[in-house]
Amino acid sequence: MKALISKVFDIFQGPRLFQFFWHFLVGVSRLTESEIKAASLVLGENSIKYRSVRVAEGRLLTLIFKFGPGRAFTTFHTVNLPKSGYHSREHSELLIHELVHVYQFERIGTDYIFQALRAQQEGGYFYDSWPGLNSWRANGKHFKDYNREQQGQIAQDYQKDVIEPGLPEANEVRAAYEPFIAELKAGQL
Ligand SMILES: [Zn+2]
Repeated sequence: MKALISKVFDIFQGPRLFQFFWHFLVGVSRLTESEIKAASLVLGENSIKYRSVRVAEGRLLTLIFKFGPGRAFTTFHTVNLPKSGYHSREHSELLIHELVHVYQFERIGTDYIFQALRAQQEGGYFYDSWPGLNSWRANGKHFKDYNREQQGQIAQDYQKDVIEPGLPEANEVRAAYEPFIAELKAGQL
């Protein structure tokens, strides 16, 4: 049912309309060139429409983050971030996690929201880290088999634990992530 509602919402340009009004209530800006460059290393260069992404901070969001859980969330092409704390913009791995949700939206439409909410309630974010990736890979698991939050988390951890420290290709941690990241870049999510 939720999948059907999402489909209808997408057909009637719901995401576009939502963002049109949402952007009046929050402050938005584009991704910077360096943010796009950092994200490209994890998600791929032309994987998502980086130029259509807006980062929203402040105004109505100040209230939402003050009284809500204070965690970043993504509405279609808009990444909503608190101004301070671990979920704020300067933590690039967090931004990459949220851009995975943008990627999910571009691939499957609005239903990604319901799938991500289900993931938060059921499987959670944890995927047994890189040793888990290795053993699940051996069991034939692909990136698309992880839930919507684990997918974000894998990309986030790859940025923080592989890209940032500049692990060489032969490194076992990097090698564990690489096949899954290749699938992410290929849009297999
Ligand atoms: Zn998430």
